[in-house]
Amino acid sequence: MGPSLWHRFKLRLKKAQGKNIFLCDSCKWDWRSACHRPERPNATWCPDYEKRGK
Ligand code: SF4
Repeated sequence: MGPSLWHRFKLRLKKAQGKNIFLCDSCKWDWRSACHRPERPNATWCPDYEKRGK
């Protein structure tokens, strides 16, 4: 399943506000051996995303 229309809409709003839209920057898998997704480090939508720093 891909990003929903609603997700893409919110993304566009954030982008327009100059916010960081890349999930990888705050994802705990954002290092080479933990994430093998081609989207990294610029994923805007990711089913494996988990927030870092708990
Ligand atoms: S799991 Fe997804 S959000 Fe996290 S680093 Fe990999 S591509 Fe980015």
